[in-house]
Amino acid sequence: IIVTGCYAELRRNDLLAIDGVSLVFGAKEKSRVVPDTMELLLNVSGGAMSAAGNITIEKPMSAAEYKEISKETMAAFSSEERTRSFLKVQDGCNNFCAYCTVPYVRGRERSRSVKSIVAEVEALSQEGAKEITLLGQNVNSYYSEDENADFPALLRAVCKVEGIERVRFMTSHPKDLSDELIRVMAEEAKACHHIHLPVQSGSDRILKLMNRHYDRKKYLSIVEKLNSTVPDAELTTDIIVGFPGETEEDFEQTLELVKEVGYSAAYTFKYSPRTGTKAAEMPDQIPDDVKKDRLKRLNDVVAEGLKRGNEKYIGKEGVVLVEGCDRRGEPMAFGKLPSFKMVYFPGDESLIGTMQNVRITGTAKNSLMGELI
Ligand code: SF4
Repeated sequence: IIVTGCYAELRRNDLLAIDGVSLVFGAKEKSRVVPDTMELLLNVSGGAMSAAGNITIEKPMSAAEYKEISKETMAAFSSEERTRSFLKVQDGCNNFCAYCTVPYVRGRERSRSVKSIVAEVEALSQEGAKEITLLGQNVNSYYSEDENADFPALLRAVCKVEGIERVRFMTSHPKDLSDELIRVMAEEAKACHHIHLPVQSGSDRILKLMNRHYDRKKYLSIVEKLNSTVPDAELTTDIIVGFPGETEEDFEQTLELVKEVGYSAAYTFKYSPRTGTKAAEMPDQIPDDVKKDRLKRLNDVVAEGLKRGNEKYIGKEGVVLVEGCDRRGEPMAFGKLPSFKMVYFPGDESLIGTMQNVRITGTAKNSLMGELI
C-alpha cells in the first residue's frame, strides 16, 4: 500500500505506522513514486518485502518479471508524457476552505513567471508534446507580479507556442473565475472547451460553513456565462456530501444544482475529517450511513446527467488525441475530445500520440464510442 498526497506529507509517521503501508510520499516527492515503488517491488524475496512495512505477497513475482512490468510501465508512461504534459504553474492556496489541508501543507499562493512557463512549454513541444495542462491549486488566482500577468494572459501566451495543439488547465475556483478567462477560452483555438469547476455543495448555508466565498447564485451565473460564450464547453466538478451540519434539505439543493448544470463528470466524496482543519472540529458530524446513502443518490443523479449529455454527441465529429489502447477485447484506441470527453474507437497502439478524426456512434457508461473517419 502506497499513500501519497497532501495529507501524506502532513502525517507521514502516523501513516507509516499503519499495518501494511509500505511507502509514503508527500506531494513534493511525486517524482520518486515510480523509481521507489519499482525498487520496493524488486526487493520482494520469498514473499516478504524488505522495505518498511509488513506486507506479505502470496505469490511474489521474480525480479525478472518485475523488470518486465517496469519496462512496460515506463514505456507507457513516457509515450503518454511525450504527447500530454502537465505543468505546475502555481502552488499553494490562500483560501482555507474549512475541510482542506492544502493551505497548511503547501503554504500561501505563489506563481511561476510566464517567461519560464513558456520556455518549458516550447521545450516540451520540441520533444513532441501536443497537449499541455496547466496545473495549480487555484489557477485562476495565478499572478506573475513582475510581468503583471494574470491567468488569462498566461493562457494566451501558452496557446501561442508552436506545435502545441491543446491547452487545458485546472483547478479553477469559482470565486476567481473571470469573464476574461471565459473570453480567452472562446477566442483561442487551442484552449480546450472544458472547465473543472468544483462546486462542493448546492446549499448556500453549507458553502458558507465550508468558507467557499461564493453562493449558489454566483456559481450558476458563471455557468450561464460560460454556456452563452462557449456553447460547447463541458463542465466537471467536485462535490462533498455529508459536510458537518448538512441537512437533507441542504443535500437536496445539491441534487437540484447538479440536475440544473448537467456535469459531464463529477468527483464525488463523502466528507472525511482532516486533522487540523476547522471542519474536523465542527459539531453535527454526519453519520457514515447517511453519507453513504447521499453519495449513492448523488452519483445516480450525476450518471443520469452524464447519460443525457453523452447522447447529444451521437452523430457528431471531433478530434481525439489518442492516449492508449484497450486490449481486453477487440483493440480499442482511446483518447479525449477537446471537451474532455473520452472516446473509444477501433484502433491499435500505433495511433498513440496522434490526433484522429472520429465520428461518435454510441455511448458507454462514462465515455463515448466512435469510429475513425
Ligand atoms: Fe483547498 Fe482548493 Fe479550498 Fe484551496 S481552494 S483551501 S486547495 S479546497
